[in-house]
Amino acid sequence: MKWQGRQGSSNVRMSGGKAVGGGIGGIIIGLILWLVFGVNPMQALQTGQSMAGGGGTTTTEATDNSRDTQFVKVVLADTEAVWQQVFQEAGGTYKEPTLVLFNGRVNSACGGATAATGPFYCPGDETVYLDTSFFAEMRQNLGISGDQQGSGDAENAGKAGDFAQAYVIAHEVGHHVQTLLGISQKVNQARQQVGQAQGNDLSVRQELQADCFAGVWANRNEQRIQFLEAGDIDEAINAAGQIGDDRLAQASGRAVSPDSFTHGTSQQRVNWFTRGLKSGDIQSCDTFSGAL
Ligand SMILES: [Zn+2]
Repeated sequence: MKWQGRQGSSNVRMSGGKAVGGGIGGIIIGLILWLVFGVNPMQALQTGQSMAGGGGTTTTEATDNSRDTQFVKVVLADTEAVWQQVFQEAGGTYKEPTLVLFNGRVNSACGGATAATGPFYCPGDETVYLDTSFFAEMRQNLGISGDQQGSGDAENAGKAGDFAQAYVIAHEVGHHVQTLLGISQKVNQARQQVGQAQGNDLSVRQELQADCFAGVWANRNEQRIQFLEAGDIDEAINAAGQIGDDRLAQASGRAVSPDSFTHGTSQQRVNWFTRGLKSGDIQSCDTFSGAL
């Protein structure tokens, strides 16, 4: 994918350093949403609010010029531009999440996490957490080498995996969108009222919707800036089919996010990502009614 030379987000931070607070006002709005259990996503969109808790991490702005930091900043900015547009079209306002890059261990409002946790989103501080070793390991473990198309040249090998990495970030931002829409809160509440099997089913549906939202993002971003290159979609589909069963499932310690639950089958993940990608419309991402 094309990403160099674009403006990066100012919402990317490194763990360690000065404290960052969380919004308390959001809790009240969140409680209102909570009570209005029947609220539909578009109504919640217009409210444009979420359930924000206290911040639990200390961060500083990420200012290093490494490839990975620059890449994360650009992709996050791309998600901001797209979701601002989507929310605006529905008469709402998008609240940008924070993205924290951490090394080894981090404290989120959802509890402690290590690199083994994998990328996750914490609704409590509306932050995506990504460990700095993730991309390097993703390149190795997912076998994203760029030679699936039969092109083994160095330039392609160097670029390979860009879009799969962007897809992971977009999936986590998808969880943020679910939080802004009040969907995650409803899922959490419903999960407390059902048995484990049904609870897992709800988690899978939540994960697949985040995949679909990642697809919506890719569609909208392509319309906006034509950033895709040949092979990118295959890359993301490959990642969608592998990540849930591999890295993201290796949660350790306290469960910090829905990503510590199963993500659905490879085929389901591919199907829902593709659905969002083709439609560019979050209305096509209703994973909660009907068969998956
Ligand atoms: Zn997820």
